[in-house]
Amino acid sequence: MSLRSRRRVVLLGATGSIGESALRVIAAHPDKLELIGIASRSNASRLAAIASSHRVRHVAIADEAAAKLAAEEGSVPRDTILHAGERGLIELATLPEADVVLVAVVGTAGLAPALAALAAGKDLALASKEILVLAGKFVMEAARRSGARLLPVDSEHAAVAQCLSGHPRNDVARVILTASGGAFRDFPLEKLSQVTRADALRHPNWSMGPKITVDSATLANKGLELIEAQWLFGLKPGQCAAVIHSQSIVHCLVEFVDGVMLAQLSPPSMTFPIQRALLPDSATRGVDHALDLMKQFSLDFKPVDESRYPLYRLARKTMEAGGVTPAIFNASNEVAVEAFLDGRIDFLAISDVVDHTLQNVPSFEPTDLPSVLAIDAEARSIAAERCRRSAGSRITSSPSR
Ligand code: NAD
Ligand code: MG
Repeated sequence: MSLRSRRRVVLLGATGSIGESALRVIAAHPDKLELIGIASRSNASRLAAIASSHRVRHVAIADEAAAKLAAEEGSVPRDTILHAGERGLIELATLPEADVVLVAVVGTAGLAPALAALAAGKDLALASKEILVLAGKFVMEAARRSGARLLPVDSEHAAVAQCLSGHPRNDVARVILTASGGAFRDFPLEKLSQVTRADALRHPNWSMGPKITVDSATLANKGLELIEAQWLFGLKPGQCAAVIHSQSIVHCLVEFVDGVMLAQLSPPSMTFPIQRALLPDSATRGVDHALDLMKQFSLDFKPVDESRYPLYRLARKTMEAGGVTPAIFNASNEVAVEAFLDGRIDFLAISDVVDHTLQNVPSFEPTDLPSVLAIDAEARSIAAERCRRSAGSRITSSPSR
């Protein structure tokens, strides 16, 4: 492949866990991939280091104050162009020379740049599942309208896309996503009320950012992924299921109407799905080693115990309810997880906050994006108030903490 035919990549969320893995993939394929834009919330020094080592021309910093400071202090290399704020991320996502935009921004802050990338006809490699849970209808519409490709980066969804490839959609009975079970899969239920932030961040198989690691401990992550799968593959709620698989080696199972299943296997490293999304047209030498089947290992599967994972049950109900219910679930979960990570609420309060918000925000079938964004804001405000009450009652009931 000549240098002129390299795929030009914009990476939003470059300083995060997915960002790190994406940089490894890009560095391993200098003949096929070229990084032309990077963005993060702040952390100008890390962006500057990436810009220097990958010779990146465009850098965006979402936090306006951090961007201003970086411009004043000249923190980014002199031959790079600095973009600021959400507008800056949109400018990167629509650069005329970009071929693929990888959105790996935690939460829903990447929605506007993702929509802009699709409208500009760019391939969208999507890691930020929250975006589809918030506004799947409008993201899928934007892709259809422009004909741009939406390439899943979430490992389970990248796996499903591979298993579905070449099969008529009517042949598919069900898609089953696997879940590791997270940090507390074998933890005594009665002790879950005492777990700390550090306990929740100790994931058994994957190394990831803090929000998704907590979502894995509550299994909210798998609930979000069921909804993500619904949008990506046009599935009905009854066609999306999840199963606990403690090794995180099988990433999905696709069951066909004749009872046959296809599974997709790889070691638990995000470089595999990221590379598939950045280079979707042919398989290329991987960054990490394939599974070594000459070493003995076993694979186990068991049903999800919903009494251990109330957020998974809520997410499943949310998926069945449809409309803006998934957006309410996602917004309140984001607020509650942030409060837990900040030490303001207990682990078990996360599901209480989400449940309370779902009961207090009305659902409807959205016809435009602004109405979804308004519900997202309302849910965040109700969830934040519930977090404050939860924090208050914690202080009153256990003054010694
Ligand atoms: P992380 O916390 O490690 O990194 C988040 C990145 O987002 C950082 O670069 C941060 O600067 C950036 N960011 C945060 N707020 C921003 C804003 N307002 N504007 C611009 N950038 C902002 O998170 P992560 O683990 O890399 O996850 C990123 C996304 O990918 C999440 O949606 C997650 O669910 C999804 N995902 C992650 C993994 C994984 O293995 N880490 C796997 C599947 C899906
Ligand atoms: Mg996943």
